[in-house]
Amino acid sequence: MKIGSYFAGAWHAGKRSGQPLVNPVNQNVLAHVDSSGLDLSRAFDYARSVGLPSLAELSFAERGAVLKSIAEVLIKHRDRYVEIARLNSGNTARDASIDIDGGIGVLKFYARAAERLGKSKLFIEPGQDQLAKEPVFFSRHIWNTRPGVALQINAFNFPSWGMWEKVATAFIAGVPSVVKPATSTAWLSAEMVGDVVAEANIPAGSISLICGQAAPLVECLSAMDSLAFTGSSGTALLIRGSLHVLESGARLNIEADSLNSTVIGPDAAVGGPLFALAVREIVKALSVKAGQLCTNIRRVLVHESILPALQDAVAAEISRITIGDPAGSDIQMGPLVNLQQRDAALEGITKLSKETKLVAGAARPHTLSEADWLRGAFIAPTLLRCDDPSGAENVHHVEVFGPCVTLMSYRTLTEAAALIVRGGGSLAASVFSNDAEAAADLVAALGPWHGRLLVIDETVGKNHTGHPIVMPQCVHGGPGRAGSGEEQGGLRALRFHMQRTALQGSPQLFQRLSSAETEFTL
Ligand code: NAP
Repeated sequence: MKIGSYFAGAWHAGKRSGQPLVNPVNQNVLAHVDSSGLDLSRAFDYARSVGLPSLAELSFAERGAVLKSIAEVLIKHRDRYVEIARLNSGNTARDASIDIDGGIGVLKFYARAAERLGKSKLFIEPGQDQLAKEPVFFSRHIWNTRPGVALQINAFNFPSWGMWEKVATAFIAGVPSVVKPATSTAWLSAEMVGDVVAEANIPAGSISLICGQAAPLVECLSAMDSLAFTGSSGTALLIRGSLHVLESGARLNIEADSLNSTVIGPDAAVGGPLFALAVREIVKALSVKAGQLCTNIRRVLVHESILPALQDAVAAEISRITIGDPAGSDIQMGPLVNLQQRDAALEGITKLSKETKLVAGAARPHTLSEADWLRGAFIAPTLLRCDDPSGAENVHHVEVFGPCVTLMSYRTLTEAAALIVRGGGSLAASVFSNDAEAAADLVAALGPWHGRLLVIDETVGKNHTGHPIVMPQCVHGGPGRAGSGEEQGGLRALRFHMQRTALQGSPQLFQRLSSAETEFTL
């Protein structure tokens, strides 16, 4: 099977055989991806000349209705997607759900949000300022759709959610998307777009998909376009440094990697409910999607009085995880996405091991045969402990994109916060404590360094959505190393695709533009 690209109203196949996609369990080739020889600038031309006007014909509410129909198509074919995610990404049913149902969920959320916006196509912020002595000259702020294309470059670990969370918000804003999935897992993205194009009656040119080379796409950007990138900080650096991106003036949003942390407060008594909640979340970080979540916990800051018990509890739990081919019904954790990612993760663990002691992992899990261990991209859940986190460097800088977590002890919460900010800015941090005052202090210290903070006390219990899980209501992205980007957060996400203009004029002008439906704060 060869995976092509969809643009200008048709599917196009690359001219070469392309890059193989494999099953990470056994390296069987599943498909090839290729975009060589394709005129990718046509995708942008078509999105500008056909996609923009066809979206402009629809109101916010009508765009929301289309998003709903996209979600319905995806729900219809969900079982096929779960199978693709198992074969190509090594996903268990739970892993696949996070990506596939997460993508469907985000579409449904934005469909509802857009439907509430009604018939308008622009926003006027409520409130005005008088700019002259006489009440004849005022200013207000309006938001209009940017007449450009949203280029969306995604990471391999979320071929569904990563695509739909970006498409949804561009779509509501009236901006056509050109999606570039990561090559290694592009099959699922292509299958979904194929179904949506065939069955959802989307406006012509509103969604294009380029499977294959990414770099030429960046060269197609111009002033009204945007680029939303998700991936490693290394690739992000290349994009930021691109002269074309700089010269074009296109908007840039970067979602990169980060060394996310969790803090276990001194009040999390060993064996108590808070302690159990923290153990549960750390074990998830060491097993769900084989640790391949950008928001995953990488560093655990635990009070020195609790560390030995926490270490034992986590080690005991992860020793019971069944690892293997996710085709098996008893399998709780699959492989990494491919051998290159496994090698990169092992390389990262080697770097961390210079500053840490191995508590568990880094050996063949008892549930895997020697042959499967050798040919599959498996890594056992790996728990490390760093006894000198203040003196260490790698544990705060090296992202192991797999099932690996490092425990570090602290004496005071001030010290814990100082260690966390050594990560240089992260997507998410969590705090396990019943002490609201201490938690509030941590929120103040960690807030500027994070895109999202999750504070768990016993009243929240198991009702929380999880440390790594991105909810569309909440902003996603983090400062510094995490890319300094921001996505989602409900309709706040539309800001990226719209232009805010200060409008100065008379009350008559504002009366003409304003209505109950256009008055809105983004
Ligand atoms: P990656 O290697 O940086 O690739 C990300 C995307 O960039 C892929 O689509 C890739 O295409 C493309 N790309 C590669 N070179 C490019 C270039 N010169 N110009 C433009 N695009 C280029 O990352 P990955 O291995 O797919 O994903 C794992 C990383 O992503 C981890 O570090 C993880 O933390 C991070 N991540 C972050 C978030 C977040 O929301 N912050 C979410 C998920 C993952 P090809 O696949 O064709 O090379």
